[in-house]
Amino acid sequence: MSTSPSAGRAALSTLTVDEALARILTRIAPLEPTEVGLIDALGGVLAEDAVADRDVPPFRNSAMDGYAVRGTDVSVDGVKLRVVGSVGAGSVAARGVAAGEAIRIMTGAPMPDGADTVVRVEDTDNGTAMVTIHKATRPGVAVRQAGEDLRSGERVLSRGTLLRPAEIGVLASIGRAKVMVVRRPNVAVLSTGDELVDIESGPGPGQIRDTNRYSLAAAVRATGCAAFELGIARDSADDLRHALGNAAFGDLVVTSGGVSVGDHDHVKPVVDAMGKMDFWSIALRPGRPLAFGELRTKRGAVPIFGLPGNPVSALLTFELFVRPALLKMAGRSNLHRPRAEARLLDRIEKPGGLRTFARGIYDAAAGTVRSTGAQGSGILRSMSLANALIDLPEAAPGAEVGETVTVVLTDRTEDH
Ligand code: AMP
Ligand code: MG
Repeated sequence: MSTSPSAGRAALSTLTVDEALARILTRIAPLEPTEVGLIDALGGVLAEDAVADRDVPPFRNSAMDGYAVRGTDVSVDGVKLRVVGSVGAGSVAARGVAAGEAIRIMTGAPMPDGADTVVRVEDTDNGTAMVTIHKATRPGVAVRQAGEDLRSGERVLSRGTLLRPAEIGVLASIGRAKVMVVRRPNVAVLSTGDELVDIESGPGPGQIRDTNRYSLAAAVRATGCAAFELGIARDSADDLRHALGNAAFGDLVVTSGGVSVGDHDHVKPVVDAMGKMDFWSIALRPGRPLAFGELRTKRGAVPIFGLPGNPVSALLTFELFVRPALLKMAGRSNLHRPRAEARLLDRIEKPGGLRTFARGIYDAAAGTVRSTGAQGSGILRSMSLANALIDLPEAAPGAEVGETVTVVLTDRTEDH
C-alpha cells in the first residue's frame, strides 16, 4: 500500500457534522463556579439559586403621582376631600388617611396607613388644601403591594440562568452585590504557517497576513469568552511545541492551519506527543479537516481544536464546533443558534455527500435567503456579507431557486 498523503486522506473515516459535534460535546464539561461582582456577571450563567432576602417591593407604595385615599370615598364622580399631607419617594407620611381625607403622594412613596387607593393627579384639580376628584376610582387602584414582584425567601432565579440585563436587575433588587457564576473560558488562539506575518508588518514575497488570529480571537470574544493570542507558530514541530506549551494556560486552545495532510502540517503529531489528538475528516464544506483532542498539562487535560487554515473554513468550523463547546464550558444549556426556513433566491451547487454551509443574506420579513456570491474557502468577504448560513444536507446535490432551505441565523444568539 502506498503511504502517500493522498492514500492517507482516503483512509480517513468521514464523520458527519452532527456526529463530530456530539463527540466533542461529550468531552467538554462546564467550568467551576466563581464569585464575581454583579455587573461582571452579565452574560454569565448563574451557578447558584438566587433567593430573595426580603419582599420586593419591601412596602406598599404608590404606582402614580396623585392622592392616597380610601377607596370607599371615591366611588362617585366629583368627590371633594381634605388634603392632610404630602409624601414623596424615600419618606414616610407623618399621619394616616381617615375618611374624607387625602394625602398627596408621589410614585414610589409608601402608602399612608388607612389609604388603599391612589387617584392619579390627572383625575383631580391638583388641589393643595382641598382636592376635587373628577372621576370615580376603583378601590385598590395604582397601589403596588409589598412582595408583588418577589417574595421574601422565594427562589427568584435558578442555577443555570443566563444573566441578561433584566436578571442583573433582579439580582440587584435582592441585594446581591456578588454572585456565583460559571467561570468564563479563557481561550488560547494560535496561528500556524511559515507564510504568515502579523498585520503590523507588510507581507514579503510569498507571505500573507495572519487573518485567523484576529478573526478567531474575535469569535472567542463574541462568544463571551476571553481570548489570549499566542501569535504565529512556524511550520516546525519545535516551534509548535513551544507555542502549545503556553497555550496550556488556557481552558481551551484553538489553532488554525497545519491540520491537512501536507508535508508541513505538524499540529496532529505535536499534539499527539503532548496529549492526544483525533484527526477527523468531516463531511463538511468548507472545513473538511478538523482536529480535536486534548493537551496534557499540570492543570489537567485542556481541549484543543485544530481548525483548518483557510479563513472561511477556520471561522465556519469555529461557529459549528468551537462555539457550542465554549458555550457548554460556560454553563449554557442552549448551545445552538436559532434557525429558520427560507425561500432560496439563488441556485446553489454543492458536492453530494458533504454537508454544506453556504453564506447567505437572510431577509426575515420576506422569508427569503440569497447567497453572498463567490463561496471559495479563502473568500472571507462571503462571511462578512452574511447574516446566516444556508444549511444544505449531505445528500442534496444543491438547491434550486424557490426551494425551501434551512438557515442558521448567525447574527442572533441563543436566548438562554
Ligand atoms: P493550511 O490549513 O495550513 O494548509 O492552510 C490552508 C490555507 O489557509 C493556506 O492558503 C494558508 O496560507 C491559509 N492560512 C492558514 N493560516 C492562515 C491565517 N492565520 N490567516 C490567513 N490565511 C491562513
Ligand atoms: Mg499551513
